[in-house]
Amino acid sequence: MKRRDFITVMGTAAVVAPVVGTLASCASNPKTFVGHEFPELGFGFDELEPHIDAMTMEIHYNKHHKGYFKKFMAAAEGTELLDTPMEVIFANISKHSPSVRNNGGGFYNHALFWENLTPSQGQIPAKLNEVLVKDFDSIENFKEKFNITAKTHFGSGWAWLSVNPEGKLFVSSTANQDNPLMDVISEKGTPLLGLDVWEHAYYLNYQNQRGSYVENFWNVVNWDIVAKRLHLALG
Ligand code: MN
Repeated sequence: MKRRDFITVMGTAAVVAPVVGTLASCASNPKTFVGHEFPELGFGFDELEPHIDAMTMEIHYNKHHKGYFKKFMAAAEGTELLDTPMEVIFANISKHSPSVRNNGGGFYNHALFWENLTPSQGQIPAKLNEVLVKDFDSIENFKEKFNITAKTHFGSGWAWLSVNPEGKLFVSSTANQDNPLMDVISEKGTPLLGLDVWEHAYYLNYQNQRGSYVENFWNVVNWDIVAKRLHLALG
């Protein structure tokens, strides 16, 4: 699967997931289904240094992410999950096994995370900047809220910037491999930006200094992807 295809799927699902009630109705929409494939990284393991080190990237992508993917595919084998978009699976995750929840979440969340990262960062696109300022008062306030959420999340999990079904942006965190698309999560929305705060995401380079990892994350955020996800989510 090409990176662009994955973005499109995530963005399309943004609108579809909260309103589609049945698996069949969504699976029949070709725009929301491309199958489950392990995504390409899109940049070299060492290209995010010094903010995220090459060894962490290599282990994270080849071992952790691939592990989630393989386990999810093993859990999905022979079931309708193979033909169901991830966003639809998440919208009904309470009906599935812990393996589908944990490994499906791990597969999807990391694919989204890699897309959020870039070695060649640009400015925040004007429209995204406008919406961030509207919903958080300033870019600084948004980053501060995200930083506090990421730093204070207890244990393993993710910090998110998402857009809710009313089109408003919000910051939240989820435990383990959950995400805001899941029906078990109280603050539901479409993720635009995710940050992995599991220790495996930073421990080799930052040891116990999660705060430094979170602050350096802003140097490698792919704002164009965040803006594209928002655009697709808002239709
Ligand atoms: Mn991870």
